[in-house]
Amino acid sequence: MTLKPVGAQRAYLDELRSELLRAAYRRTHQLGALPPPGVDEDVVQAAHRASVQRILGQVHAALDRLDAGTYGECVACGRLVALQDLRRCPWTERCGTCIRSTV
Ligand SMILES: [Zn+2]
Repeated sequence: MTLKPVGAQRAYLDELRSELLRAAYRRTHQLGALPPPGVDEDVVQAAHRASVQRILGQVHAALDRLDAGTYGECVACGRLVALQDLRRCPWTERCGTCIRSTV
């Protein structure tokens, strides 16, 4: 059962959505500012592009989880992700236990 957020919870979720949208906008702008990938793209630039694309994907996935009502649940094990981890990185998708087990 999905509970309908009310009051302060609704305001928090609205601010969270705005923060995620700003992060998506920044990453999209970063990608647009990079020269198009080509055969002579250096390894640093290619790695930067891949990193920005990966984060952009994570931000969009977080927005999808927000819409689905599953934001804050670890995508690997389903347990809740620590609030401090979500505050540090709002598009975090795994709990600390699962992150440590894959490193
Ligand atoms: Zn987990």
